[in-house]
Amino acid sequence: MSRNSQAKPIWQTNIAVPGGGNFLYLDNEKAERYNADPDAYAADHFGLSKIEYMQWIDLDGAPLCGHRTKKGDLCRNMTGGYQLRAGEWQKRHRRLFCASHGGEPAHR
Ligand SMILES: [Zn+2]
Repeated sequence: MSRNSQAKPIWQTNIAVPGGGNFLYLDNEKAERYNADPDAYAADHFGLSKIEYMQWIDLDGAPLCGHRTKKGDLCRNMTGGYQLRAGEWQKRHRRLFCASHGGEPAHR
């Protein structure tokens, strides 16, 4: 019995991450799901919602402050760090305060 399976077609793509891109190698079924909505597929790959994924890219992986002004606007200051990995960014984004707002965990 052969120790190896037959070759199968694999699709390659490069998905956006803070600071660059990550190569993904997809079989036919995954490539079909990817092509239906590349951003949603990439978001799912990193365990983020599609909106979180967009923000993670747009902010270059820098988490923002969780403070809200009296009018309800969110503070636009960063809380430290950039190009963080998706999971680390998600744990900090809008959950910490910037130096102007105490630098402590935000209460949500
Ligand atoms: Zn702030």
